[in-house]
Amino acid sequence: ERKAALAGATGPGATSDGHKVPLLANIGGPADVAAALEAGAEGVGLFRTEFLFLDDSRKAPSEKRQAEVYRQVLEAFPEGRVVVRVLDAGADKPLGFLTPGEEPNPALGVRGLRTLLDHPEVLRTQLAALARAAKGLPVYLEVMAPMVADRADARAFADACREAGLRAKFGAMVEIPSAALRARSILQEVEFLSLGTNDLAQYTFAADRQVGTLSRYQDPWQPALLDLVATAAEAAAAEGKSCGVCGEAAADPLLACVLTGLGVTSLSMGPTAIPYVRATLAKHTMAQCERAAAAARASDSGEEARAAARSVLSGE
Ligand code: PEP
Ligand code: MG
Repeated sequence: ERKAALAGATGPGATSDGHKVPLLANIGGPADVAAALEAGAEGVGLFRTEFLFLDDSRKAPSEKRQAEVYRQVLEAFPEGRVVVRVLDAGADKPLGFLTPGEEPNPALGVRGLRTLLDHPEVLRTQLAALARAAKGLPVYLEVMAPMVADRADARAFADACREAGLRAKFGAMVEIPSAALRARSILQEVEFLSLGTNDLAQYTFAADRQVGTLSRYQDPWQPALLDLVATAAEAAAAEGKSCGVCGEAAADPLLACVLTGLGVTSLSMGPTAIPYVRATLAKHTMAQCERAAAAARASDSGEEARAAARSVLSGE
């Protein structure tokens, strides 16, 4: 059954009527590149660079060491896009030398971009390493910041990228409801958005993503989350810019259709999900995806939204 579901599923991501939705891979480093290529990823939509920083809890890796690792990833996708996320430390990803040990609410504390703005030398070194890694390669490099809350955050990040002499597109992750609500303002500073639906769910429902008993709030089908996705995607469309999804939501084939219907322009996921998402997307038109998205948003719970979307997508 699994094989049948994948029959004929190769090539770039698109709906059955040819609306293109690039399917990208979430990776943690060069070790994940082979799986991404095997799944036919059109590039990398989220390179989580934290793993590189876990080797030494006392200091950041040198610019040279970082550049070597980044280059291995960039070289693997000579014609594709590679979206690198700068270090996302803090909360669920603590780092000894950077993140404050004791905070009353780590998820609401100094994490993500906030950590880097407190330690500008760490951000500078990482951006310089990326500039060094991309030198002479035709790759289409994009660099984004985690946990952007407002326009001032986006501007601080874009300024740091310019100061590092980085020739790349700069983007903001949308992981905080304020960023989704004010996406147009953030897009005055950066060139693209990428929705991190894992954190966006955490902050929308005020439910810690690490607390298992609260997992029902982490359901990416929740209509409130879909509303925020739509708000960000509409803002990006109005600004003529792109808005991808790189959270777990993109790995659910049905939800991938709904996200497409909401106006999301690319989907990034763990490599193993790519063939399933490609196959499901290829079975539905853009109009069907839009109807499924509308049905999901008209629902009152994640469960209802899933059932409503499934019924639209299977009934036509
Ligand atoms: C997210 O929050 O959705 C995301 C992609 O980032 P991470 O899971 O690494 O926090
Ligand atoms: Mg996140």
